[in-house]
Amino acid sequence: MIPYLSALLVLIGLVIHLAALAPLRRLIAMLPKGSLRNKWLAMSGLIFFFIAGDLGYIIVLWGQQSMWHELPIPGIFLLGAIYVWITVKLSLQTAVELQRIDLLEAESITDPLTNLYNHRYLDRRLEEEVARSKRYSLDLSVLMLDIDHFKQVNDTYGHQAGDAILSTLGGMVKADIRDLDVAARYGGEEFLVICTNTAIDGAALVAERLRKLVESHQFQFFDGSGRSQTIQISISIGAAGFSASVDSNEKLIQTADQALYRAKEEGRNRVIVA
Ligand code: GH3
Ligand code: MG
Ligand code: MG
Repeated sequence: MIPYLSALLVLIGLVIHLAALAPLRRLIAMLPKGSLRNKWLAMSGLIFFFIAGDLGYIIVLWGQQSMWHELPIPGIFLLGAIYVWITVKLSLQTAVELQRIDLLEAESITDPLTNLYNHRYLDRRLEEEVARSKRYSLDLSVLMLDIDHFKQVNDTYGHQAGDAILSTLGGMVKADIRDLDVAARYGGEEFLVICTNTAIDGAALVAERLRKLVESHQFQFFDGSGRSQTIQISISIGAAGFSASVDSNEKLIQTADQALYRAKEEGRNRVIVA
């Protein structure tokens, strides 16, 4: 009776150790290559070691237990296996939850159409950048971009074509600016770029490069019957730099917006520096 009971307890422990391997594999698959992943891989090695120990106990020590007070040892084998299984399960649940929170956070600051940051993030970030500029006397500029006659594009080719153009333009803006700059969709067909650590002259160069890039690009979209079409568009840009008189996020945006308004008035497809 006691040998059977001992073997049964250890056998259940062995099955639980085996069951812990599946969530452990999922957890390892979620991790990027690196030291943390290697540590969890070592943990799987340890589980195989425990499984070997369980098997060894059942086979080598079979029939050697005869007293009731010998039962706590296989009991501890079983509790150890339960502990490993719970630890692995909780670690996996924690990792999944953290990944979900990460995704939600990213979604809450991203514009889904253009994949750029959204207005909410822009406000927060611009406030931070203005504070940084004030504190460390750093240069800071913003560019306000607006697609020229975009309503006409929508009216002629349809809203879906307009969306495709917005999405491509978002990618172009992001690819053209430096990693440290921030591009966001400010409104419908308006984008705002924060050029960190950049004086207005530098920002004007960035703006002019962007304007030329857009002007010469063939934007591709599919019309109502699924045929691929191309269209050329242009953008107008207003640029504003942080200064003694333009010293807040509201003033920076307002100044860039006024410059953009002038760019539109003066004929569009141009950069106006405030
Ligand atoms: P302007 O050169 O003066 O900027 O002319 P515009 O036609 O671009 O300006 P207006 O402000 O009159 O129109 C903006 C248009 O942008 C209106 C709207 O149809 C379009 N638009 C805004 N958001 C979106 C969007 O998410 N998708 C699409 N397809 N169009 C949009
Ligand atoms: Mg507009
Ligand atoms: Mg427009």
